[in-house]
Amino acid sequence: MYQRTVFITGGAGFIGSHVVRLFVNKYPNYKIVNLDALTYAGNLENLKDVEDKPNYVFEKIDIVDAVAVNELFKKYQPDGVIHLAAESHVDRSIHSPLDFVYTNVIGTVNLLNAAKDLWLGTTHPSGGTWEQARFHHVSTDEVYGSLGETGFFTEATPYDPHSPYSASKAASDHFVKAYADTYGLPIVITNCSNNYGPNHFPEKLIPLMIHNIIHNKPLPVYGDGKNTRDWLYVIDHARAIDLVFHKGRNGEKYNVGGFNEWKNIDLVKLLCKLMDEKLGRPAGTSEQLITFVKDRPGHDLRYAIDATKIHKELGWSPSVTFEEGLSQTIDWFLNNQEWLNHVTSGEYQQYYKKQYNLD
Ligand code: NAD
Repeated sequence: MYQRTVFITGGAGFIGSHVVRLFVNKYPNYKIVNLDALTYAGNLENLKDVEDKPNYVFEKIDIVDAVAVNELFKKYQPDGVIHLAAESHVDRSIHSPLDFVYTNVIGTVNLLNAAKDLWLGTTHPSGGTWEQARFHHVSTDEVYGSLGETGFFTEATPYDPHSPYSASKAASDHFVKAYADTYGLPIVITNCSNNYGPNHFPEKLIPLMIHNIIHNKPLPVYGDGKNTRDWLYVIDHARAIDLVFHKGRNGEKYNVGGFNEWKNIDLVKLLCKLMDEKLGRPAGTSEQLITFVKDRPGHDLRYAIDATKIHKELGWSPSVTFEEGLSQTIDWFLNNQEWLNHVTSGEYQQYYKKQYNLD
């Protein structure tokens, strides 16, 4: 008999797989159910080391299908939901915005409805109320829009999304908050900056550059490369989710970030330097691959997170420096080239050609 049953949606994706691993190993007394549609971004290879654990279950499900979502809530009666399933790539959202509306908005509302019906409409199997129930919505700093050269996003920063991706995530955040305000659903929201680490899908900046450097391919950098992002190691994000899920105040949102800002071009140059060292290539070899490409439409200039609230209230701060995290990430990709080859075959090739007009 498990103490809790927690649904983790999107658990076969990049961040979700790290959250599943953390919860399955840290909480053997919780049943962890991974709900994932296994889109191009979902990959059960990410979870090979946990798939045989007795407290782990995988359910293939598209969260856009409300009937299927309701059935799983009836079957497992979870008292926790950590919601990461999403279409997550800005460039893809520019080509196919509706996919983002379906999964990120309608999928989220389907989960909220199922949680509301279970937690507010039934008694707990023990006969009491759903005391521990909590819906944790995992979101992004991109909902806040773009900063100039200075300043930080706080939890009070007004929403100002610019891409179809960030607009869909903003809409989902608003629905989560609305279910708390209207129905009293127990919720928390986290808005995190850019993650990096093992299992990162190579359409995103850091793994894309690592992959292309390994294969001596051009390194596409948008515009003038001055766009700035705050980078956080994925395992530190998973630790933050664990803390907020268990100890965050009901109804609150928490920003999560690394206090670690990098202009894209500087980050790419740093990766080139580290990769030359790791691959034993002469210094400066990989930098010659940098190729500036037409800027992304609506490209936000700068994101930077003020993570004071989660630090002060819950004692969270990043445990890994950027140097350590990047080095571990590069080592992981170099040691897992089969994974990389696998995810970059097929559909990825077509996407890459269309996006950058490069081979
Ligand atoms: P990802 O694209 O790597 O993984 C998304 C997962 O969701 C995949 O396993 C995919 O199969 C699954 N999925 C997609 N559509 C689904 C559907 N309709 N039904 C069920 N499952 C579906 O994404 P990620 O980078 O791991 O991001 C996870 C979450 O964290 C997202 O909600 C994202 O908005 C948020 N986030 C990401 C970052 C980042 O830097 N990657 C930063 C902050 C917040």
